[in-house]
Amino acid sequence: MRQSSLVVVANRLPLDDNVAPDGACEWRRSPGGLASALHAILESTPATWVGWGGGVGPAPALADIGTLRLRPVALTEDELRGYYEGFANSTLWPLYHDAVETPVFDRGWWETYRTVNRRFAEAAAEVAEPGAAVWIQDYHLQLVPQLLRELRPDLLIGFFMHVPFPPPELFMQLPRRVELLRGMLGADLVGFQRPQAAHNVAQLAGKLLGAKGADDAILVDGRVVRTGAFPVSIDVTEMEALSARPYVLNQARQLRHDLGPHKRVLLSVDRLDYTKGIEHRLTAYSELLRDGRVKVRDTVMVQVAVPSRERVESYRGLKDRIEREVGRINGEYGRVGEPAIHYLNQPFDRADLAALYQTADVMVVTPLRDGMNLVAKEYVAARADDTGALVLSEFAGAANELEDAFQVNPHDVDGLKETLLQALDAAPADLSRRMSAMRAHITENDIHAWARAYLTALDHTGQLARHLPRQREASARRS
Ligand code: UDP
Repeated sequence: MRQSSLVVVANRLPLDDNVAPDGACEWRRSPGGLASALHAILESTPATWVGWGGGVGPAPALADIGTLRLRPVALTEDELRGYYEGFANSTLWPLYHDAVETPVFDRGWWETYRTVNRRFAEAAAEVAEPGAAVWIQDYHLQLVPQLLRELRPDLLIGFFMHVPFPPPELFMQLPRRVELLRGMLGADLVGFQRPQAAHNVAQLAGKLLGAKGADDAILVDGRVVRTGAFPVSIDVTEMEALSARPYVLNQARQLRHDLGPHKRVLLSVDRLDYTKGIEHRLTAYSELLRDGRVKVRDTVMVQVAVPSRERVESYRGLKDRIEREVGRINGEYGRVGEPAIHYLNQPFDRADLAALYQTADVMVVTPLRDGMNLVAKEYVAARADDTGALVLSEFAGAANELEDAFQVNPHDVDGLKETLLQALDAAPADLSRRMSAMRAHITENDIHAWARAYLTALDHTGQLARHLPRQREASARRS
């Protein structure tokens, strides 16, 4: 068994769903922040990635991608339902997102979640060389840090939660709250998107485990677990380069022409998920049309809603409701050849997304709760000329950083309407000042800075971060 000094453990392997006939794999650019987020780092760092390859049944052996080794974890159909669709996405996901949809507690799912988490921990234990650093990702694998520590006490274990970590009142609802908290605190460093999450964990550790702790370190079972906020980011240089490509510029011109050259374009890009606030947004837009404060002849909305978790019941119901509402709005306010909303229930590749970002006068990112929201940062990175407005929910992690966005509480439909109008009518000089401040922030705090900050905190010796490209080196290599 080949072993590595850096091991990443995530629910999915970063693969294209279509492995080429010659067995070659490509980096998967799935809708979902994680694969996009780690792509830039692992391209240049020798490591092993442990994850599920998609599909059910025995996992095939997979060829390396450059310096990256792949260690697939197999799942059966039942495990996929209990672990992934069940406990991860029907219990933890809604609970961690403010219970905007009611979490389902099913005892069978818990057993499966634990079994699958153990399998991931065993795989990581196998491929980690003595003293290696193992970086475990997200709520699917919350028990892995402790399970791995029991198997391999020699390892340096990091855990990063990409989704929000809820306030104690919500977390306390979980029937297996003690195991889940202890599982996560098996790590040496637990990272979150926002400082509030670390505060929530410190309070819970005191309450449930009798641990002593502050927001940056918790003493549990005689060990110190460090915690902190490491807001994830995007590859800014890549998005800038993509946005300047002739294909993207042509595509943006074509889109602008097709949407109506003189129209103001509002754009939203989300997975079709109840946390994204799509229904609230449609209500606000429909009321603006009803009140005559926005007119179809000079304004148009584009809603990309990428299919997601289609086997989970609550997602099917949401899709039906959204599609009915889009149909109603277009039926009521659209004109022949002039819909009020273009609704696209399909995934776009990165070049087409970059073209969409260029076309949008107002980017509307209004989740009810979101760990970070990379789309907001991608829009800012794509606006090299400092034009365009970002309307951003204060409940997205990105709101902590993008203070110059038009921030809004998406639950407040009247406030949302006013903010949309404010963004549509803002003076170019105001927009340019805001966009340039946001661009400066994300350029400084890009994906490389994120990985460097996390891995430096995990490993004080600096050995790990040594492998990472510095921001400027990484940009230079690509250009
Ligand atoms: N995305 C994509 N194609 C699409 C829609 C989205 O590749 O059609 C990507 C988008 O560029 C972003 C990610 O999916 O990098 C979505 O991440 P975000 O943090 O906004 O939301 P999540 O889906 O992780 O909740």
